[in-house]
Amino acid sequence: NSLSMSGVKHALESKGVRFIQLIFVDINGVPKGMEVPIERYDEAIDDGIAFDGSSIPGFEGIEDSDLIFKVDPSTYAEIPWEGVSRVYGYIYKGDKPYHADPRGVLRNALEELEKAGFKAYIGPEPEFYLFRKNGSWELQIPDSGGYFDLVTLDKARGIRREIALRMPALGLIPEVLHHEVGKAQHEIDFRYDEALRTADNIISFKHIVKATAEAHGLYATFMPKPLYGFPGNGMHLHISLWEDGKNAFIGEDGLSETALHFIAGILKHAKALTAVTNPTVNSYKRLVPGYEAPVYISWGYRNRSALIRVPAFWGNGARIEYRCPDPSANPYLAFAAILMAGLDGIRRKLEPSAYVEENVYEMDGSKRESLGIDTLPESLGEALELLEKDKVVRKALGGAYWNFRTYKEREWEEYLEYLGAKGLPEGTKKVTEWEMERYFHV
Ligand code: GLN
Ligand code: MG
Ligand code: MG
Ligand code: MG
Repeated sequence: NSLSMSGVKHALESKGVRFIQLIFVDINGVPKGMEVPIERYDEAIDDGIAFDGSSIPGFEGIEDSDLIFKVDPSTYAEIPWEGVSRVYGYIYKGDKPYHADPRGVLRNALEELEKAGFKAYIGPEPEFYLFRKNGSWELQIPDSGGYFDLVTLDKARGIRREIALRMPALGLIPEVLHHEVGKAQHEIDFRYDEALRTADNIISFKHIVKATAEAHGLYATFMPKPLYGFPGNGMHLHISLWEDGKNAFIGEDGLSETALHFIAGILKHAKALTAVTNPTVNSYKRLVPGYEAPVYISWGYRNRSALIRVPAFWGNGARIEYRCPDPSANPYLAFAAILMAGLDGIRRKLEPSAYVEENVYEMDGSKRESLGIDTLPESLGEALELLEKDKVVRKALGGAYWNFRTYKEREWEEYLEYLGAKGLPEGTKKVTEWEMERYFHV
């Protein structure tokens, strides 16, 4: 559904769309962009639109200020409730792809995957809270529902449906809407798609959720752990690889060898991956026992305490569920890192450790040790150190690795300075005001 020039005319005449938003994401996965009159659409496809990237978080500053945005026309959509169009694209510097463009990083990873014969499909389960805000960061919980609650306790059901009704205009197909475990916590799952499309869809989804909440005087937050002592916001990812049009995870009796190698690759690189799939200080306040968020590096079939779960769907639905990622991740970088970790497992024919069906939270430490079950990093600082040691995950981030690391190390240091100034212990799992300020809008 790319939009030709006659399509532009159509948009102009029938819908009154005057402007188009050209959208990319910064190193944090936060959408950024400019609006141009829709008459410039063809130019944005052919030559690109120049912009100054010097103040974009994670781009490099003055040397890299002259960047060019080129439209990916297959992503064109109209945002009916705003009366504008929007389109995603790639960033160039001169005639070369810009090394820190997250969408470009994922495109490169997908090319590498394709050279190995695979195409990746991903379906996400993003979770979020809807809050009322009172003055500074005092959050009010507007409903008292819990997991799967309907009516009475679930005051936000109308908003959830409104979000779902808005999704198709931006190319997302809602599949399941439900109240989550936390009071005022919700989940909307949408149809899986090719990895690049799903990453775009996550950006679009967060936009729709926030815009719709705002229209009702509420604030939607995707921060991984907005409230200490309450469940966090995860973004489980359902992943499958396809080869010659067939699901390569289907084995004769359960999962294929390819799937097992893929799992082994992820488990092997799990620690470094965390820096990318859980890239905020706040992410590590979610990865604690007791809230269905992973803490240990294990896999299993029904086991919801495992890092990787294999849902009971065989045939074309065969897939793995990676439970670590949270919605503060930059989906382009996260997908690139996960897929390259899995591909490493396939290339090296790695075998996963034995699967575990017991609840790993409740196992005692010595049992975990005897089963070889390791622990995920406990802070952003630790995760960044482990990322530095992992060549495969670093390489997956391509030229953006340096930008990512530099940006995130500064973020970690700023947090440590804040803790120091407040006299708080470094390992605190309480959610600080610094995090609310910095991450509430992720
Ligand atoms: N909120 C949980 C997490 O942090 C997931 C809960 C669920 O979907 N079962 O990942
Ligand atoms: Mg779910
Ligand atoms: Mg859920
Ligand atoms: Mg799930």
